[in-house]
Amino acid sequence: MTEPTPPQLQPMPEDWQRALAVVAHPDDLEYGCSAAIAAWTDAGREVAYVLATRGEAGIDTLEPAKCGPLREREQRASAAVVGVTAVEFLDHADGVIEYGTALRRDIAAAIRRHRPELVITLNHRDTWGGVAWNTPDHVAVGRATLDAAGDAGNRWIFPELTEQSLEPWDGVRWVAVAGSSSPTHAVDAAAGLDRAVRSLLEHRTYIEVLTDEDPESYARRFLTANATATGERFGGRPAVAFELFPRG
Ligand SMILES: [Zn+2]
Repeated sequence: MTEPTPPQLQPMPEDWQRALAVVAHPDDLEYGCSAAIAAWTDAGREVAYVLATRGEAGIDTLEPAKCGPLREREQRASAAVVGVTAVEFLDHADGVIEYGTALRRDIAAAIRRHRPELVITLNHRDTWGGVAWNTPDHVAVGRATLDAAGDAGNRWIFPELTEQSLEPWDGVRWVAVAGSSSPTHAVDAAAGLDRAVRSLLEHRTYIEVLTDEDPESYARRFLTANATATGERFGGRPAVAFELFPRG
């Protein structure tokens, strides 16, 4: 008996100019998304990154006060490889990010500052599909980002933002969730894949703790396998998948 073929993924919308990616940790975008981001910046689009934490609790052998600044540097270098220079940190606490109004407010403020048409985030669901449990930080930030896309457009939800001259922005047309087990859309990753590998490699300290494998072959193997698997649902081209939530 053969498995039913899952439906083909649709191409991501292209009629936009500014995107904002909001994730919990340094490396969240590099484990899959950054080939798409390279393709977008190649096409002249602007992409900015907002990270809820500095990933300061991510390395067992490195205390947070030293780890945070190091991972911030690695994240900025990683973003630069795929053409992203705007990288901001919201300073929530790594590992214990709380879903709630404080997080929604900080993300809504970032959306008002950057005024994106497309917002990117990482899997907000309890699992990665099946029984592979997601982390509470990803769930909190993903959910809060989906919510904040609406909050950003309503001047009465966080009136203190308007008082700080952050005017409402109701222009978010889509929130695209990376790492979803129910993707709907994809971006061709062929042109951006080499840079995605180099971008992930900028998180060298983290990767060296994670694996005994040579960092370069680890990064290339991981990203190529993901892009190839996604490509089976995208006309055979290596691809990055998203679950797209249109707004309005
Ligand atoms: Zn993460």
